[in-house]
Amino acid sequence: MKICPKCGSEELNYEPWLGEIYECRDCGYRGVFIIEEDDPEIAAAIKKEIETGKNKEE
Ligand SMILES: [Zn+2]
Repeated sequence: MKICPKCGSEELNYEPWLGEIYECRDCGYRGVFIIEEDDPEIAAAIKKEIETGKNKEE
């Protein structure tokens, strides 16, 4: 699965016409870099880490 590096969401739109860019439907992140992880356990850990990091900033 593909994960947004900014908010940890899986709601990513692939926009190849913009040059292989992904856009997150949750936070509006747009960029080439996304996290791709097929193992659901690792994906969950990554998402948790992103959410922990978000909380620290706020
Ligand atoms: Zn996002």
